[in-house]
Order: sequence, then C-alpha cells, then structure tokens
Amino acid sequence: MKKIDIRDLGIADLAKFIEKNGEKGFRVKQIHEWFWNKGARQFDDLKNIPKSLIDKLQEEFSFHALEIQEIQKSSDTTAKFSFISHDKKLTEGVLIPSLKRVTACISTQVGCPLGCSFCATGKLGFDRNLSAGEIFDQITLMQAYALENYQNPISNIVIMGMGEPMLNLEACSNAIQKLTSPLYIGMSPKRITLSTVGLCDGIYNLADKQLGIELAISLHSAIQSEREKLIPTAKLNPLSEITDALKYYHQKTNQRITIEYVLLKNVNDQAIHSRTLAEFCKSIPVKVNIIEFNPTEGIPYSKSDDKTRADFANYLESKNLIVNVRKSRGKDIAAACGQLAGKITKSDRI
Ligand code: SF4
Repeated sequence: MKKIDIRDLGIADLAKFIEKNGEKGFRVKQIHEWFWNKGARQFDDLKNIPKSLIDKLQEEFSFHALEIQEIQKSSDTTAKFSFISHDKKLTEGVLIPSLKRVTACISTQVGCPLGCSFCATGKLGFDRNLSAGEIFDQITLMQAYALENYQNPISNIVIMGMGEPMLNLEACSNAIQKLTSPLYIGMSPKRITLSTVGLCDGIYNLADKQLGIELAISLHSAIQSEREKLIPTAKLNPLSEITDALKYYHQKTNQRITIEYVLLKNVNDQAIHSRTLAEFCKSIPVKVNIIEFNPTEGIPYSKSDDKTRADFANYLESKNLIVNVRKSRGKDIAAACGQLAGKITKSDRI
C-alpha cells in the first residue's frame, strides 16, 4: 500500500498517530517543526526525536523532499533552479533579485495540462501535481542561495512557475499556510501572489479560503474569441464569468487584483485590444502588468516593439488605470515569464 507523505498529514492527524502510539503530546509540535521549519530532508534529520518514534513514523509514512538538480545563473543575476523529486520528475523555480527585493517564482505542477499557446510549460503536457511539501521545498532550497548570493532573504513569492495553481489548490493552500504561519516561515501573505489563467471555480475557492494572498490573472486578451486561441480553457471560463469571480474575490478580500497581459506582436497589441482591456478593467479594482514576451523555440509569437508597448500602456493610463511595464529577467537561461521548461523536452526528462 502506498504510504501517505507525512507532510500531507494535518497536525490533528499527526496528533492522533502520536496518541495512538502512546507517545508524548509535545512530540507533535517537535515533528512538525522539523518538517516545516527546521529544514529536515529525511527522517533521520529529526535530531531530538527518539529512534523508536522515528522508526514508527517511517513504517507508517513516506517523506519525499525535493532536491536541487541544477542551478543556472543569468548574466543579470537571476537564477533558475531545476528541482528533482523522489520519482525523478523535474520542475523549476526562479529567483529574481532587484534593489529592493528578492522574488521567488515557484511551480505547482510537473508540466501543465492547459496548453496555452504562448507558454513553453504548456508544450510539455501534464505529468503530476506537486505535493504541499514539494511546493514549500522550493522556497527553503532557494532561500539558502538567496542568502548566500544576494545577501538578502526571499521577500516575495509569485506562484507563476510551471503549472496552473488552481488545479492543485489544496496542496498550494497547505504550502501557503506553512509559508505564512508565524510558527513556520512567517512570511506576510501580502507578499505572496498566486497567478491563474482564470479558472473561475478556483478563484471562488481561493477567496473563501481567506489566505490573505494577492491574486493575479493572466488575461492576455479581453476579446473572448481571441482569448480562446491563446488559452484553450478560456472556452470554459468566459470573460463574463471571470469578471464575476474577480468581483467576488475583491469583495471577500478587499484586494486590488493584478491583470497580467503579455504583449504579442499583431496578436493582442492593437488599439482595439487596449480599448477592450480598459473596458474589462472598469468594473473591478485592478492594476495592469504589461509583460514583454520572451521568444521561445516552438512558440509562434514575437514581442511587440517599444512604441507599440508604450502606446498600449499610455492608453490604459489615460483611462486612469495603474499600469506597470515589466521587462523580463533571466532570458539567457530561459527563466523568463513563459519560458520555464523551455529547454526540457519529454525525452530529456529523467
Ligand atoms: S500559462 Fe500557465 S496555465 Fe497556461 S500552459 Fe503555461 S503554465 Fe499552464
């Protein structure tokens, strides 16, 4: 029988196990701290736990931590991490340092089933969801690198790497709770942003969970028929329903939502697109991030020129929208937005 990973176990279930085995109650907190705070990578790392109890834990549960397979460093100091799991699956994370912050971009799935036409991850297809522990591990593994190489800890987390987080929301929420709990990492939820391509059920669920994190939606077009060409799942999640879901998220959290918009030359960067985007943004408090497209092998788009990008942003600003134009980082190591897994093909995967 397949053992449950001990980090998929809630604290109440761990307490039951401890009680059933006649162990002292304070062991629950000690064990949890080892897995979520003190960086245990294997059962034998639980130094203040008696060997007899470690044996019982090992008999009942598995413990699968991610490991670093490779770190690629960009000339702009961005670092891309390939992580390998116990079952030899690869996933990726990116550290992006700047003057004021160190942002970690993390993944939630191995590959992705949604197949967005502008995204390298989508070309891989889907393998499996990452566990809460594996999502969490990406931060602890990258933290050590951040401290050593940037002399600063991770200040912000964006859940925008490989995979659609709403398709793995329970594991994501569990990892976020551990990252934000003062008992464990204690990061402010306001410094964590989860990005979705707009799965409405997930947006409602996330709002109800009240995690306090920020939400971003990858919109990329406010014209339904054109959006469906970029994001196949848009057919099941039309713009009118996304608007309702975002309004609900805002009502529940009182937060401004980020609209992500990757500008694709002659695809979604014309006057009609800025007009329809401004119209879409009218009914919800949002800010708009305009993202430079990163050309990737096998992806049939190119980036908009500087003037088109400036005109697009200026138009939105003239409609009183908050607009940030984001230059990509880590392009030389395929770590920029939409490029993750760009250099891993199915046959390369271990
Ligand atoms: S953009 Fe996100 S949802 Fe779409 S294929 Fe890429 S990883 Fe999946």
